[in-house]
Amino acid sequence: MLELGGMRGYAAKAAAKDVLKIETALAAVSKTKVERRDPRKLYNKVDREGVEKAVPRFDWKSYFTALGTPDLKDISVTSKEFFAGVNDLLPKFKPAQWKNYLTWQVLHSMAPTLGKAFVDENFKLQKLLTGQEEIEARWKRCVAATDDALGEALAQPFVAEHFGGDSKSAAESYVHAIAAAFDKEVDTLDWMDPTTRKRAKAKLEAMAYLIGYPSKWKKYDFSVGKDFGANVLAAEEWKLKDDLSQLGKPVDRERWEMSPPTVNAYYHPNKNHMVFPAGILQPPFYDVKAGVAVNLGAMGMVVGHELTHGFDDEGSQFDKDGNLKNWWEPPVEKTFKGKTSCVADQYSSYEVLPGVKINGKLTLGENIADMGGLKLAFAAYRSLRQDAPEKVEADGFSEDQQFFISNGQIWCAKYREEAARMQVVNDPHSAPRFRVNGPLSNLPEFAAAFECKSGTPMNPENRCSVW
Ligand SMILES: [Zn+2]
Repeated sequence: MLELGGMRGYAAKAAAKDVLKIETALAAVSKTKVERRDPRKLYNKVDREGVEKAVPRFDWKSYFTALGTPDLKDISVTSKEFFAGVNDLLPKFKPAQWKNYLTWQVLHSMAPTLGKAFVDENFKLQKLLTGQEEIEARWKRCVAATDDALGEALAQPFVAEHFGGDSKSAAESYVHAIAAAFDKEVDTLDWMDPTTRKRAKAKLEAMAYLIGYPSKWKKYDFSVGKDFGANVLAAEEWKLKDDLSQLGKPVDRERWEMSPPTVNAYYHPNKNHMVFPAGILQPPFYDVKAGVAVNLGAMGMVVGHELTHGFDDEGSQFDKDGNLKNWWEPPVEKTFKGKTSCVADQYSSYEVLPGVKINGKLTLGENIADMGGLKLAFAAYRSLRQDAPEKVEADGFSEDQQFFISNGQIWCAKYREEAARMQVVNDPHSAPRFRVNGPLSNLPEFAAAFECKSGTPMNPENRCSVW
């Protein structure tokens, strides 16, 4: 890659060694993925002076001036240790070595836009890491690049074509049904005390939801020309400016962090809201022609998953206004932690590949959300169908069974061994198989629906339950 960037073979080899050395040294002073899941330890308000003191060897004045924020004062760093580590590392490598490292960073991040030679070379690394044999079709890469650069412009025709009819009202009705199920659940949890219960309900009450697409579209005021690389740079520059324009202003609760065509959803702990882009309100997650059991087993579970994030081991540390403030009574908090460690232990026992186990601590928040999401969606489905004049059988499956089959179907996936290994190390979500088997085996209603014998994997004697 460095050779493609213009270096001679011998120099490129030496530079590549510098890159690896510096990357390794930076990794050694970085927090681990698990450490980065602790919001209290990520919030370190040090302000401008603190940053300057932590890394005096770096020219912060020039940096913030170049960024267009010369007067920035309020700063929180996610890792004080990392900053101290960088300060120590700066003199350990020669300026020429740092230059090589930065050259690589530019080439690596720009490679997908620099033409076939760079694209192919960049893919070699991806191939090595994921086992992927062929690069993704060009049109797919183009769509992804457009979504990345102009997400809310691309979204407008998508929304017009694919998010009409009752998609929005259906999603709203699910959110209400799931929220009602959670409210009821909180009332009946035997490990809650009245004070914490009241605060949990207040947090639920304050939780907002955004569905489909934003209330106002972003305006991309940069020009797009024939040069792909230049367009990508212009979009990146605009994105950074757009982010920085939020500084010093009240939190904009209507701002989206995913583009509307995205097949995903999120809960934002600082805003106490859930976001469901139009992209996920499509089959197989939601289908206007599907029954309540099928839609709730899929989209309902996703809604319940995001809602539960507000109360998982991370989300539960934020109050109803999105501030990092403890609202738990100490004894209840202790019980809660015991319940979450049951989940961590359970998932740590799952083997993705022979000898490769899930990291229960890395995936804890997602697993709690999967379990809560399934439980809430099932309760919501049952209550929506309780007065139904007759049950709908499909291919011989009862409604309860349809709910669970639909849930399994949204996680259908196939991984190469390399990709599965990488997922275990990097992804806070469990491997898809365990996103199904974990929550289902913890829910007695699944075993009842399929008559699983007691003591079998899907009907174990010991279950974990949080929400
Ligand atoms: Zn999640």
